[in-house]
Amino acid sequence: MKTRVTLLGPPASGKGTQADLLSRRLGYSILSTGSLLRAEIEKQTDLGRQAAELINAGNLVPDEIVVAMVTGRLTGDKFLFDGFPRTVAQAEALDLVLEERGMPLDIAIHLEVTEETIRHRILNRVICDNCHFVGTRGGNVAQDATACPRCQEPLKRRADDTDEVITHRLEEYREKTAPLVPYYQQTDRLVTITGRESREEVYERICQVLEIEPQFNEASTTPS
Ligand code: AMP
Repeated sequence: MKTRVTLLGPPASGKGTQADLLSRRLGYSILSTGSLLRAEIEKQTDLGRQAAELINAGNLVPDEIVVAMVTGRLTGDKFLFDGFPRTVAQAEALDLVLEERGMPLDIAIHLEVTEETIRHRILNRVICDNCHFVGTRGGNVAQDATACPRCQEPLKRRADDTDEVITHRLEEYREKTAPLVPYYQQTDRLVTITGRESREEVYERICQVLEIEPQFNEASTTPS
């Protein structure tokens, strides 16, 4: 069984959705740098103000900031990273920290999707800050829904989920994050899964890779 995992892929490839499902299945929490940064923005901290400008323009946040944010939160010996690392420098820093602690990263799961799917998902994406539910309007969420189908807290749109910003986020992905594919391939830790299928199919495939039995929880996999 693989217990130290990172989910890698372009924006809206399903990293957040799968991290949420896996976290419920595995019982340990997700380290999502995007969610941590959005929480800083919400709290209006100095880091949040700095991050908001970069995120809303579709840029990555500097490596030192995210690496410090993650390493400060590493406890236990099981990890599920969502959206981290996003550069080779971050991956090297993570490898160093985990190897020093004698618990190297087991696997990087690369979710592959087309640009057309990404744009469709981003323009229809809604999120819940409270329970980390991620939905698509017209898909698993009704077009006019205002409350999270799982916890009833308000559904929100992300400030960076616009047509304009996504173009730059995709450029950042191609230039800075895509090199992680060969990085993990070289050390035999990469598995690529097509993220185009339904969330349940992708989840089942990931469970196979992690050598765990999928468990379908009505509330988490098929929100009404
Ligand atoms: P996400 O929620 O993973 O899509 O992240 C939203 C935004 O937060 C990204 O577009 C980046 O601006 C920033 N961000 C999240 N994770 C990282 C990371 N590991 N390195 C740099 N920037 C990040």
